[in-house]
Amino acid sequence: MVSDKELANIIFPEVTMTVEDLEKKYPSRNLMPGAEVTRFAPSPTGFLHTGSLFTAMICRKVATQSGGVFFLRLEDTDTKREIENSKNIIVDQLQAFNVIPDEGFFGDKQIGNYGPYVQSERADIYKVIVKHLISIGRAYPCFCTQEELNEIRAKQEEAKIIPGYYGQFAKYRFINNDERVELIKSGKPFVIRFKSLGNHIKKIRVHDLIHGDFDIASNDQDIVIFKSDGLPTYHFAHVVDDHFMRTTTVIRGEEWIASLPIHLDLFSALGWEPPKYAHLPLILKQDEDGKRRKLSKRLDAEAAVSFFLEEGYPTDALIMYLMTIANSNFEEWIFAHHFRDMDQFEFSFDKVSLEGALFDMGKLNFFSREVLATLNKTQITYLTYEYAKKYNFELKNLIDQDRDYFEEIMNIERERENPRKDYAKYSEIYANIAFFYDNLYANIVKDVHALPFNFEKFSIDTIKTVLSNLEKSLTLPDEESAWFEIVKKVGQDCGFAANNKQLKESPDSYIGVVADVAEMLRISLTGRKNAPNLYSVMKILGLERSKQRIDRIIALL
Ligand code: GLU
Repeated sequence: MVSDKELANIIFPEVTMTVEDLEKKYPSRNLMPGAEVTRFAPSPTGFLHTGSLFTAMICRKVATQSGGVFFLRLEDTDTKREIENSKNIIVDQLQAFNVIPDEGFFGDKQIGNYGPYVQSERADIYKVIVKHLISIGRAYPCFCTQEELNEIRAKQEEAKIIPGYYGQFAKYRFINNDERVELIKSGKPFVIRFKSLGNHIKKIRVHDLIHGDFDIASNDQDIVIFKSDGLPTYHFAHVVDDHFMRTTTVIRGEEWIASLPIHLDLFSALGWEPPKYAHLPLILKQDEDGKRRKLSKRLDAEAAVSFFLEEGYPTDALIMYLMTIANSNFEEWIFAHHFRDMDQFEFSFDKVSLEGALFDMGKLNFFSREVLATLNKTQITYLTYEYAKKYNFELKNLIDQDRDYFEEIMNIERERENPRKDYAKYSEIYANIAFFYDNLYANIVKDVHALPFNFEKFSIDTIKTVLSNLEKSLTLPDEESAWFEIVKKVGQDCGFAANNKQLKESPDSYIGVVADVAEMLRISLTGRKNAPNLYSVMKILGLERSKQRIDRIIALL
């Protein structure tokens, strides 16, 4: 009878390399004890999920803080799902969040000694291992047609037993090698299946860096490891790649826990030591009816990393926010570090919560305001420009017109101990600062009666009188207090109380308070009630332009 070894040679005559050759080609990495090798292994779906960024960020962190290596591998063996340009999208989006691999694919380039890092380019490696498994009797060709598989499934459903290709249902496991060779020679298409020796009644104890020890049914499925298209399946490729790429810790989403018995079964059949595993909790979303579910690509804009880039969230803020989901002690840490130096935070698997976390936009916005407030005027201008170049051409034009002017605007109440926290994202900037630009200002104030003047309390004549007095008296002294004295004086001359106390003592003697005067000035210069510090606004506009604006409002009224 044909031996297993002969069968392996019949199926893969072209494969001459051996497992030992591969072991030599991809030797253990020469790293310090304790250094972790981690990997992020996306499929080419053209879409980076927020949960995937979460995983990649932790992989990067664990490798960095242990003095190890983080690499990027493309899992593209499911050719049906492949979206064009995925490699570039993944690399660009990771890079935007400063999650940069040491090795792997970088667009169409690949860097590192453990490649190729794209699974569809690794067929030769997988074949060596499949051939080896056949030759030791741990894999076999399966000739089942789709109809046969459907029949098996129908039987299992009827009997209400676990579906799949295992035990008595593993039809082609029980034919002998002579029969196999005959079927191959007759040209019948086949796949290669793993021959599992497991039993799902039996539990195995596994260890996870986040979940600790737990028991899980062992694998008994003879899964397909090598498809008729010449490529492996995910499970098999993971085992082969993480072995030869010398991954020490596999960090991935919790949805893969169920596949762990298959992976461990494969590692054991190959006589390889499995890596450590850490399965991260899922990022959840609460529906209107209160139900929690996984953040969904189809239903939730925030499931796509591209959403945060397009909206202009500072990338550090999202990373910090995700780290609060990862480690319960991070929030306190980052507050104590004033939203800076997050590289110095020590991530630990022990502090990952087992429950999935709800994605909280409110908290992200809060973090974003804090992060943007830490930037100086040059930094925020640079980052705003980088955003505007891609997503907001009007904003880009404003910066191009006069970068120094833009910097001064962004600097209002910024470089100081308690900076203003008025922006959560770059996309909010344009509308907020448009009034500083004369052509945009003209548009904002053209419907003067729609401006938020308090027309109920003050007649148009009163407003005009106040404005023309301001127009005559205003100067721009070096001290804000001196400037305010002028505003106050104009107010008092026009019959306004100097402060609320004065107004309260004698309400009938005044038409309002000086704050009302400041508001009229503010609306005239900016079109808004809630613009930043008025003195700073006037400093940037200059006295002449400010007065022109006041004149324009008087004329329009
Ligand atoms: N390619 C798998 C995915 O995209 C990766 C799973 C893993 O990290 O092992 O989900």
